[in-house]
Amino acid sequence: MRLPKCRQSLGLFGAAGMAILMVLVFSMSRISRVHARAGDALDADLAGFSADAPIDSHIHAYDDDPRFGALMQRLSLRALNICVIDDRDPFFKGLEPQLGDAIKVRRSTKGRAVLCTTFSPYDFESPGFAQRAIRQLDADFSGGAIAVKIYKVMGMEMRSKAGKYVMPDDPAFEPVYQDIAAHNRTVVAHIAEPDSCWAPPNPASPDFQYYKEHPQEYAYAHPEWPSKAAILAARDHFVQENPKLRVIGAHLGSMEVDVDQIARRFDRYPNFAVDTAARVPYFMMQPRDKVRAFLIKYQDRVLYGTDLELPPGGNVEKELQYWTDTYRRDWIYFSSDRTVEYLGHTYQGISLPAPVLRKIFHDNAVHWLPGILGEK
Ligand SMILES: [Zn+2]
Repeated sequence: MRLPKCRQSLGLFGAAGMAILMVLVFSMSRISRVHARAGDALDADLAGFSADAPIDSHIHAYDDDPRFGALMQRLSLRALNICVIDDRDPFFKGLEPQLGDAIKVRRSTKGRAVLCTTFSPYDFESPGFAQRAIRQLDADFSGGAIAVKIYKVMGMEMRSKAGKYVMPDDPAFEPVYQDIAAHNRTVVAHIAEPDSCWAPPNPASPDFQYYKEHPQEYAYAHPEWPSKAAILAARDHFVQENPKLRVIGAHLGSMEVDVDQIARRFDRYPNFAVDTAARVPYFMMQPRDKVRAFLIKYQDRVLYGTDLELPPGGNVEKELQYWTDTYRRDWIYFSSDRTVEYLGHTYQGISLPAPVLRKIFHDNAVHWLPGILGEK
């Protein structure tokens, strides 16, 4: 637990004169009461973050603990709460129980955590696949879902009966994409993975631990999988084929090592944006001035997102402390020239102009994710 700043400094006084202490305690308790009423003393960084009415366009929250709703309210935060289907993970095997949990979280956050649904791509070869997926998605849209996630199992796991790896631009998915566009909803596309997924284990990589824990997702151990270039080409192809469909490439569109790769797609595809989920450290690791210039040039195309998780039945207190620390670190990085720490390295913030911050943390989500503010 973090103590409010005014309380921490009390310890420094030691046993000063009783009268002085009494006066101090009295005035301090008045201050902390005011803070408590205003929302439990946000520090200056979180206050700056919260002043932009931030939207986290990439979270996975499946626990309707009231402390989460309270945190969102305290930070003036809204978020896109994303469902995923991955048959390699027991919790993500089907749309339920996630969707039901996410609906409960929407209720407990008073609508601040907005739904992003998904559909199972696995039976894409069975008759009536597209109609079934469309029927389910349309029902989810009526229930308030504003976006649809597609996942890296396309390109890195699913194979056709003929043994071919199934890509995101497979014609089987095309009617589904057209339906999403027709409903003015958005696709969140987590396609491919960081370059490190295809590289030998490297303890200095931000993803080292993840692939150690998820060997079944580590392309380096599966040389039979398509190359990353082939998967991204298929992603680009479906974006190009559906110019009326808004596509947000999750995790910097898996082009995390060089902003020039993202810029090339932005120049080619006006319907394409990216979120920063779990990849802010990759910005830090690139040349500071290059990243800053990229974000200023493409200030309408990048959405702030984190990939933060609130699993059902987890340690909510601990998880939410991590959420708060992540928001503080990211805000310092984007908004100031102070330093932040990541994996034992120190990086200088990029001090973006206030109007650009407002776009990345709020306006772009409003534009690319219609409905994120809760209006129908
Ligand atoms: Zn995610």
